[in-house]
Amino acid sequence: MLDYTFTEEQDILRSSVKEFAQKEISPVIKEMFKIRKIPDSVFKGLSRMNLLGMTVPEEYGGMGADAVTTGIVAEEIAMADPTVSIPVLFLVDNAWSYLVSKYGSEELKEEVLPKVAKGESLMGIASTEPNFGSDIGSMTSRADRNGDKYVLHGEKSFVSLVRDIKERSGGYVTVAKTDMNRGTSGVSLFYMPYIEGKFDITYLEEMGREGSSWGAFRFHDIELEKKYMLGEENKGFKLVHEGFELARGLISVIAAGAAAKSIENGVNYMKTRKAFGQPIGKNQGLQFQLADNVAKIDAARGLGYQALWTYDQEQKHGRFTRFEVSKKMAEAKLLSTTWAFEAINDALQWQGAFGYSKDCPEEWALRGIRSFYLAEGSREIMKHIIARETLGKDFLKQ
Ligand SMILES: Cc1cc2nc3c(=O)[nH]c(=O)nc-3n(C[C@H](O)[C@H](O)[C@H](O)COP(=O)(O)OP(=O)(O)OC[C@H]3O[C@@H](n4cnc5c(N)ncnc54)[C@H](O)[C@@H]3O)c2cc1C
Repeated sequence: MLDYTFTEEQDILRSSVKEFAQKEISPVIKEMFKIRKIPDSVFKGLSRMNLLGMTVPEEYGGMGADAVTTGIVAEEIAMADPTVSIPVLFLVDNAWSYLVSKYGSEELKEEVLPKVAKGESLMGIASTEPNFGSDIGSMTSRADRNGDKYVLHGEKSFVSLVRDIKERSGGYVTVAKTDMNRGTSGVSLFYMPYIEGKFDITYLEEMGREGSSWGAFRFHDIELEKKYMLGEENKGFKLVHEGFELARGLISVIAAGAAAKSIENGVNYMKTRKAFGQPIGKNQGLQFQLADNVAKIDAARGLGYQALWTYDQEQKHGRFTRFEVSKKMAEAKLLSTTWAFEAINDALQWQGAFGYSKDCPEEWALRGIRSFYLAEGSREIMKHIIARETLGKDFLKQ
């Protein structure tokens, strides 16, 4: 039997996050444009609510939240921050600390997770390199075995949260080759703490996400004990996808939440703005656009939560295969981000020249949501996954 309701606890959490987001996130967005970073007050609020590292298990100080519950918070935060800077901080921190909770050694979890749960330390993902993004098997970052330690060298680029992790402390889930000759079968997964003096950072300017920090870094001679490896040597390629998948599900509901807010803004404008003697919302041309977007964003939201639910079922109960989860997440991310971008663009257009101005939240949202066509796996790679799971792997051989 199907049941599309959230639990009472989830509804309570949603209401308290909505209240927090309206009171403490929406009013600081303009400040974020000026200071070009997420204000301290937001970090404090997120920590106070225990939302940074909410996927961290309770024994390490977190909430042990499942993917659906994390999605509820992500959606609410997205409705308050159209730039999606704060939703991205939330999703990256939670998706990747979940992976450390699942695959980290006991020593690593004790060292890192309580700080993440308190918001004292942040978790990022450093996978992309200057010469590869989608094609993980071609990476050149290395982790050389030296006795019972690994020494990491390499370069990562287009990485989110670089300034926040440097200034607030934390580290990255990262992939590096432990066998240079085996493609994806030579990739291992590590937690690599940020160490002052070992990272040469170049900050990058981005199209949107005014509060985010983004950059590239070289890292060298980072000596890590075995406890920093997640899972087993050379098995990192499969494991890293569990983090990407959770991130993709969270992005799906973030995109749907941001678009729902834009539609709401557009509707308010349509009801009050007059042209040719009547509110512009009386034009059937605009009503039909609105109807298409409302239907698509409802569908996107539903698919996003279904994907998160599928993830929970697989992770907790072993229902569904890893491939079924990958496909579902790819479908959700592909459709939600595409439809959200289109809906926000339409809502911007309904607001005429004001829509194009820097004062319009849809202008911020359009640039922010565009990042999701690439971040945590491009839309082409989402199609690649869906086609692979539908046709079978043989059809994708070059
Ligand atoms: C805002 C933002 C934030 C990001 N944050 C992070 C982060 O925190 N950590 C991190 O590691 N990375 C991050 N990334 C990088 C992101 O993961 C990569 O951009 C993405 O994986 C694509 O890799 P690429 O840019 O190297 O493009 P490439 O892989 O070089 O691809 C170039 C183009 O070709 C397409 N393409 C590639 N292969 C195929 C194929 N087989 N079939 C069809 N089309 C194909 C791609 O979809 C893309 O459009 C971020 C990116 C953005 C834009």
